[in-house]
Amino acid sequence: MSILIVPTPGTPDGPCRGSCDHRKCHLLREIAHERCAHCGGHLGFGTKITGDPSMHLRCAQAHDPIHEPLTGAHRSAEHHDPKP
Ligand SMILES: [Zn+2]
Ligand SMILES: [Zn+2]
Repeated sequence: MSILIVPTPGTPDGPCRGSCDHRKCHLLREIAHERCAHCGGHLGFGTKITGDPSMHLRCAQAHDPIHEPLTGAHRSAEHHDPKP
């Protein structure tokens, strides 16, 4: 899973503040204005973004937890049919 951060405008790596004609700046602003597929908010600047479709990293983790919860063991036990 690749993680992308759109740099904050005005920082050395970020787009110009306000509007400009730089291709790179346009692209960065476009990404920042895309909507998160999970929460529907703007992806924004300085935020970790991941996935396809794009979403906030924190939303991706809420959506598809990396760490299996403890209840996972119970779920797999339920899945197994204990008939004699
Ligand atoms: Zn620019
Ligand atoms: Zn989100």
